[in-house]
Amino acid sequence: MEDCIFCKIIKGDIPSKKVYEDDLVYCFLDINPHTDGDCLIVPKEHILDFHDASDELLIHINNVIKDLEIKYHLALKSDGLTIIHNSGVGQEVKHFHIHLIPRYELNDVALSAKRELKSIDEVYETIEKEFFN
Ligand code: 5GP
Ligand code: ZN
Repeated sequence: MEDCIFCKIIKGDIPSKKVYEDDLVYCFLDINPHTDGDCLIVPKEHILDFHDASDELLIHINNVIKDLEIKYHLALKSDGLTIIHNSGVGQEVKHFHIHLIPRYELNDVALSAKRELKSIDEVYETIEKEFFN
């Protein structure tokens, strides 16, 4: 994809700080990190999100995550991991990627709601109706 920033990074047209690469994925430090070592796992193939990913790719990414967690623990002394995948309205770059955020202490990363939420009871009423009928 010509206009895709991640395709350009994978091709080397835009510089990046690589943490891992193989035939299927390219992994590099996020330019706007949540914690030290925050990186992105990106398939070399331009696909939109996890819906378009093959089982083979998803299993492979799972193994890459496990390997990187060990490496990060040894190199950066991280003690945990937060894994994020954004799709739909939450996805800024429309090339499938997983955020791998090494953790160092409790509450060093925060996900917070930016609008008023329905009550859990109200939400669950809808879920029950739609999911189980
Ligand atoms: P999204 O919101 O799509 O899940 O996340 C896209 C991520 O890509 C963001 O965390 C953003 O900081 C990162 N990003 C966007 N452009 C670049 C870039 O040119 N280089 C690097 N290293 N990361 C980028
Ligand atoms: Zn792309």
